[in-house]
Amino acid sequence: MSLATGRVVAGYGNMIAASFDTSVRQNEVAYVITQDAKLKSEVIRVREGVCYMQVFEDTRGVRVGDPVEYTRDLLVAELGPGLLGQIYDGLQNPLPELARECGLFLKRGVYLPSLDRNRTWTFTPVAKIGDTLAAGDVLGTVPEGIFTHKIFVPFNFIGSGEVTYIGGQADCTVDHVVARLKDPAGTVHELTLKQEWPIKIALRHYEERLPPVEPLVTGCRIIDTFYPVAKGGTACIPGPFGSGKTVLQQIISRYADVDIIIVAACGERAGEVVETLREFPHLPDPYTGKTLMERTIIICNTSSMPVAAREASIYTAMTLGEYYRQMGLDVLILADSTSRWAQALREMSGRLEEIPGEEAFPAYLQSRIADFYERAALVRLADGSQGSVSVIGTVSPAGGNFEEPVTQGTLAVVGAFLGLTWARSNARRFPAIDPLISWSKYLEQMRLTLDKMDPAWIPKVREAQQLIHNGNEIKKRMDVVGEEGTSLGDFILFLKMELLDGVYLQQNAFDAVDAFNTMERQVYVFTKVIEILNKRIDAKDKEDARNLFFRLTALFRNWNSSEWRSENFKQFEQEINVFLER
Ligand code: ADP
Ligand code: MG
Repeated sequence: MSLATGRVVAGYGNMIAASFDTSVRQNEVAYVITQDAKLKSEVIRVREGVCYMQVFEDTRGVRVGDPVEYTRDLLVAELGPGLLGQIYDGLQNPLPELARECGLFLKRGVYLPSLDRNRTWTFTPVAKIGDTLAAGDVLGTVPEGIFTHKIFVPFNFIGSGEVTYIGGQADCTVDHVVARLKDPAGTVHELTLKQEWPIKIALRHYEERLPPVEPLVTGCRIIDTFYPVAKGGTACIPGPFGSGKTVLQQIISRYADVDIIIVAACGERAGEVVETLREFPHLPDPYTGKTLMERTIIICNTSSMPVAAREASIYTAMTLGEYYRQMGLDVLILADSTSRWAQALREMSGRLEEIPGEEAFPAYLQSRIADFYERAALVRLADGSQGSVSVIGTVSPAGGNFEEPVTQGTLAVVGAFLGLTWARSNARRFPAIDPLISWSKYLEQMRLTLDKMDPAWIPKVREAQQLIHNGNEIKKRMDVVGEEGTSLGDFILFLKMELLDGVYLQQNAFDAVDAFNTMERQVYVFTKVIEILNKRIDAKDKEDARNLFFRLTALFRNWNSSEWRSENFKQFEQEINVFLER
């Protein structure tokens, strides 16, 4: 059947209603042909004789009667070697100008290939002539940066085929035919280094989902120790404007112990994104000694770019993540902010005049959020290896009110909730993750692994969490009755809580050493902190106790900014030990 065509019949901002002659399917890609551009769109509702499309571009100048071409294809991501290090918009258009010049955006209606068509790769075959292969089987490999990039039989390949040709050579472009498969009907399929996958459909080409049991170390103490995230797990970082969501995500993107980082900058201010783009390419990689960008992909849709592509951007990020997971790698997707993504949904839903749910978000908001986070997983692949996609998404509720649909919808599905509050950021207690509201299910779920690391770990963490709650109760009371009305015992408990908070939960993102702690260091330091907290403190009076904790805090802070196991590190530890032995 030939592809449908039609004409624009009405426009509502970024939404266009158009006629069609034959048939159109939900979510297919269509192009609106204006006088000077061809605008990419996605069909989001089909009615008799008319369909509604969200246009991924500025719709200025679109006129009733303009032709529309339907493609029957779903919105896809292009997959293959050369994704790493790229900066894309939400539809996977490369934004090299933006990266270089900071601030230049692609012209309307210009779509560049996602993968460089001129770059060449050295293909080494794995499959042999005569092998029978199916979707997801490995044809061969190409080196990509520090990784071995697997080239798969396309995941949408139907049935199986016999290898009649397999090439091994240098200088293959992504379009180069590296294999031919003959299917049982005798049709020969030419396979290249690249393939496509529809971004809104989860790539489930694995043997099984595994329960997440391995920590994803972020280097951030309050996360890894108190509210850990698992490889293949999910976390959300809700927080009001200015509470430190973006800074925290940047820290995590630099230090997380994963193979590949995908940053989806979604609807944030352009200036902020540009800053990220300017910095990122130069950041050294703490794990490989190369630059971080070599194992990073950035998807960016700033608030100044069309809202419709924002909706797609997190799915593009997820699809690229799933693709690398298929190679047995650990991928972390950082989405900042999912609230802006939800706003894009709300906008389109409003234009479609759907019955609104809470705060005018569509009724399906919760299920869309769940479907997205559901795609994160630790999986066992056909060859027995494991790969993971983990997701950490920020949520930016207006006024920091967590009782709104996006925050609530997200915390219903994620495994860890890292809530930032103004109470903490205003007090400059960074990262502003509030221990009074945050939680993680992974502390229990990862018990086996954590017990192996230190059999007393989980009890110690629970003890410390309890101290935070008890200490804060005392603090609340003290705010009312004053220090005089508080017993010396309670006061010391309060000081212990402040010590734990000040030297362990807080961490200076701008101190080169303190910014990142390995798990080894965290176990070591945390154990020492717990020892101090369990020590009976003999203070004459409150003043005496205060001075004591003041000195301890200074000691620990210096310890935190000393290079792991350096002379300085040992010296401060010595002084802490002297205190312990008193
Ligand atoms: P949000 O994304 O939540 O709006 P940002 O991440 O942009 O907030 O942070 C706002 C400001 O707070 C930063 O510019 C910085 O001055 C301060 N800040 C945030 N996190 C930290 C941190 N970990 N250490 C020190 N200062 C921080
Ligand atoms: Mg931000």
